[in-house]
Amino acid sequence: MSSSTEEPVQHVRVAVVGSGFGGLGAAVRLRQEGVDDFVVLERAGSVGGTWRDNSYPGCACDVPSHLYSFSFAPNPEWPRTFSGQPEIRAYLERIADRFRLRPHLRFHHEVLSARWDAGQARWELETNQGRYSAQVLVAACGPLADPSVPDLPGLADFPGEVFHSARWNHDYDLAGKRVAVVGTGASAIQIVPMIQPQVERLVLLQRTPPWVMPRMDRDITAAERWLYRRLPATQRALRAALWGIREGQTRMFVNRPVLLRAAERMAKRNLDSHIADPALRARLTPDYRFGCKRVLLSNTYYPALAQPNVDVAAGLREVRGSSVVAADGSEHEVDAIILGTGFHVTDMPIGSRITGAAGRTLAEEWKDGMAALRGTTVSGFPNLLFVIGPNTGLGTSSMVLMIESQLNYLADYLRRLEGTGAAALDVAPAAQQRWNEAVQRRMAGTVWNTGGCRSWYLDANGNNTVLWPGTTAHFRRETRTVDLAEYELVGKRVPAPVRADA
Ligand SMILES: Cc1cc2nc3c(=O)[nH]c(=O)nc-3n(C[C@H](O)[C@H](O)[C@H](O)COP(=O)(O)OP(=O)(O)OC[C@H]3O[C@@H](n4cnc5c(N)ncnc54)[C@H](O)[C@@H]3O)c2cc1C
Repeated sequence: MSSSTEEPVQHVRVAVVGSGFGGLGAAVRLRQEGVDDFVVLERAGSVGGTWRDNSYPGCACDVPSHLYSFSFAPNPEWPRTFSGQPEIRAYLERIADRFRLRPHLRFHHEVLSARWDAGQARWELETNQGRYSAQVLVAACGPLADPSVPDLPGLADFPGEVFHSARWNHDYDLAGKRVAVVGTGASAIQIVPMIQPQVERLVLLQRTPPWVMPRMDRDITAAERWLYRRLPATQRALRAALWGIREGQTRMFVNRPVLLRAAERMAKRNLDSHIADPALRARLTPDYRFGCKRVLLSNTYYPALAQPNVDVAAGLREVRGSSVVAADGSEHEVDAIILGTGFHVTDMPIGSRITGAAGRTLAEEWKDGMAALRGTTVSGFPNLLFVIGPNTGLGTSSMVLMIESQLNYLADYLRRLEGTGAAALDVAPAAQQRWNEAVQRRMAGTVWNTGGCRSWYLDANGNNTVLWPGTTAHFRRETRTVDLAEYELVGKRVPAPVRADA
């Protein structure tokens, strides 16, 4: 249903976009802060975000489950150290129930536009199911929510089956088929070992080989689960240990990339122990520093690539009829193409849907690169807060830690806004500039910028606007409270209009 200006507008204090870890976390936090007047607008039909959309075989987290979960909702029942997509999705469904979020969820509500109305000092939202207005807009749309499909010659005319890893076609039977997997990122390396035994032939189209480390994955025993249920402190201690290890790794990635040489040697041994063929080994050896691209964890990827029904070719150059043509000139006839080609990260689609105070969209504002204050608020876009905004991603640890830091900031933002009596806060341009200059200064020495690779952390201009160049503890400190000196006050608060559904 499309909306028209005659349609009633539902007024809320806070509108949250998205119901993944970020949006659900925001909803929990709002309730804990005593804010009940909010909606969560979700374009899909259920919660879960990443963990609803990625249902490919083998999909699992690569940060241990005890760390990759909310601190306020530990799950003693995680079945494995790295749990699978079904368990993580079920966990998020339980969060929605346990924290009584259901009345706030609006499924099949895609936000088509959000426009700051300076006169009313409110966000005017248009969804495919009607209009909303909100004093505060929380964008938790996900950094990896919109699949990126390469614009390659011939792909649109391929006569076989084509789908993206995040939109898996479960109705298509891969058994006995000739399949091309495009890409060697975190999704592709989980998919390849799962489908290799059933397909007739698999060609992996690899632009750059990843560094792959062994995955310390195992079943969590019934005794351990019993312990975590009975003595929650043991699970908290484990989480703290996992967190500490990753903080240490982050310090190396950020401050001492040279120390990663030892890890590089381990990864090299991992490769050598599984791949006997020297030519294949050479093809699978990265030519950039360990950590520059996301380090992947797998015990089954290399063994799968060593099987006789697998070819490793260069990156996909074009599709010619029913064949994929690699950059090395090799041509492979296939029945299906699986795109493990990642997401729109530095050009997130919501950017062109959000229009700020000056009538410019975020996409226009960010044409030279994404930038925000503390990864959360953007100058010229009053009362807009991102959950996972620019430079809040992690190369090594759990994104839930960053999300929870941003939720602290959101809670303090709402308190301060209330305290000032203003209608909105808008980031002072100088504060945003200072923050981003400092971020980029710290970024300059990190392995992500110096490691000699071209990763999805870098935008079209080669700037790293995705990752946080520091520990999660550092980010937690930086987002604990809102510093009003970094903001300009906008207007005076007026009583909210009467709700259309009241
Ligand atoms: C396969 C995979 C594995 C991953 N593994 C890990 C891991 O092990 N550890 C880790 O830390 N991170 C991992 N990540 C990163 C992961 O994306 C984050 O950890 C986290 O799940 C992001 O949560 P989110 O709520 O910000 O975004 P999402 O989970 O992507 O949720 C965003 C939601 O917003 C909705 N939405 C978007 N646009 C609109 C719109 N216009 N209107 C309405 N709704 C909209 C989407 O439908 C979606 O439900 C992984 C990502 C992928 C893809």
